[in-house]
Amino acid sequence: MTTPKIAVVTGANRGLGFEISRQLAKKGYQVILTSRDEAKGKAAAEKLQSEGLDVIYYHLDVTSDESSQKLAEFINQQFERLDVLVNNAGIYIDCNSVFDTPIDTLQETMETNVYGVLRVTQALIPLMKKQNYGRIVNVSSGAGQLSDMQGGLPGYRISKAALNALTRIFASELQGTNILANSVCPGWVKTDMGGSNAPLTPEQGVDTIVWLATLVYDSPTGKFFRNRKPIAW
Ligand code: NDP
Repeated sequence: MTTPKIAVVTGANRGLGFEISRQLAKKGYQVILTSRDEAKGKAAAEKLQSEGLDVIYYHLDVTSDESSQKLAEFINQQFERLDVLVNNAGIYIDCNSVFDTPIDTLQETMETNVYGVLRVTQALIPLMKKQNYGRIVNVSSGAGQLSDMQGGLPGYRISKAALNALTRIFASELQGTNILANSVCPGWVKTDMGGSNAPLTPEQGVDTIVWLATLVYDSPTGKFFRNRKPIAW
């Protein structure tokens, strides 16, 4: 019997994170579904358990050092390693114009969308390094493409552009290891954030995310993907 790979998904009580958890569990991964709201996260994990999937719940607020460290300790005690980290949790709290956006709004967005990803990755990367295996997937957005930086959403755009930069830095530091780090635009997806007019279902939106989480040895790293293809930064 082979032991299942262990995967952490952040912000997984709803939206894309919930669907990523479902799809990874369907592929035989032991999923640790995390959320900042314990009641909502537990209910989400129970829903997937009721579908017969191997999903457990653990609390994680990506803006908290203590919470990130507790998760790392739990995984170390329980499994001694980590195979997949999907940094999915994100917020979108923007004004339309960069000239009207309060600096507080930018800071709050960066705290979750960029420093949150870095904080959680810093806490969990030792569990990948010790086995020289890991797949880090940063859920970014086309809104962060420098090559197409038009219109509003300043805080969100800046945070996702910074997340893409962070992804490249992860990959560069992990060069020569079997730990891969990529970022991904899921497309415009029907979730609370994406709204009801979005053309993609969550299942369609997570396709490239799950593909990147399950990449085989010697696959790309430090790239930005949409529809399973590299796209411009
Ligand atoms: P949702 O708003 O539906 O879900 C966001 C999730 O992130 C929620 O579970 C939320 O928790 C969680 N979250 C927010 N802050 C924190 C925190 N501090 N700690 C832990 N969890 C947190 O959005 P989506 O599912 O649509 O988005 C998921 C990712 O995909 C985001 O990074 C987003 O930027 C990206 N994306 C989405 C697109 C779309 O069209 N939907 C397009 C491009 C990118 P809570 O329920 O407690 O608020």
